[in-house]
Amino acid sequence: MCSPIVSDPSTSLATPAGAVRPGDVAARLAAVRQRIEEAAARVGRSPRAVLLVAVTKGVGVELAKAAVAAGQLDLGESKAQELTAKREALGAGVRWHFIGRLQRNKVRDVVGAVSVIHSVDRLSLAEEIAERAQRSARVQRVLVQVNAGDDPAKGGCALDEARGLVAAVRSLPSVACEGLMTIPPLEADPRPTFARLRALRDDLRSEFPEIQHLSMGMSNDVQVAVEEGATIVRLGEAVFGPRTKSA
Ligand SMILES: *Cc1c(COP(=O)(O)O)cnc(C)c1O
Repeated sequence: MCSPIVSDPSTSLATPAGAVRPGDVAARLAAVRQRIEEAAARVGRSPRAVLLVAVTKGVGVELAKAAVAAGQLDLGESKAQELTAKREALGAGVRWHFIGRLQRNKVRDVVGAVSVIHSVDRLSLAEEIAERAQRSARVQRVLVQVNAGDDPAKGGCALDEARGLVAAVRSLPSVACEGLMTIPPLEADPRPTFARLRALRDDLRSEFPEIQHLSMGMSNDVQVAVEEGATIVRLGEAVFGPRTKSA
């Protein structure tokens, strides 16, 4: 008897059973957009007030290209190296969003390469971004990431530090701070976390009118996020299926 063949999805080069193929991406995007529309309708919001970012981390170039071909021009990456590789492979016309933890020594690879950096969680990072942006005569749009669910496993500044950080970041030259981002705790109801981020945004906006965006909502909580006022949602698995690489 042969020993059973154990397939390891992290090393297999074959398409895993049930994997999403490039030809599936357009329909999956349409289904995601419909989920967003339905959630927006439930709370009387326009679905056009919600920007969909398709997260391509750990996703092959062919699937990412299929998304662009289907009109999905906003794509998200969480690692500088993968961003650089995908930018080269996909060429012009894509609006990239950087959504991962950002080290200062990677800032030079990200500033100017992306439309929005969603993950500014400390002033030293914002200062590095400002310096790089200024040197290349650009204005870099950013969001401040807040750990609104107070989850030790998640990035972002503490809720009670957010006002001070936003005030400091928005006063830097060459940086446009336009809102807030959060990732809710994995196991808990995400709604209170989203509601807290929204309340913080409303509070900040009364003082700083440019603080508009709420980047919140992923594949398994997008409807709740839209109901709670998300203006940007970041979806990976719902569009591209389960990731095979760790990302
Ligand atoms: C991976 C990732 C996403 C997408 O997650 P899915 O569960 O695949 O939709 C969104 N935001 C951030 C910050 C991520 O790292």
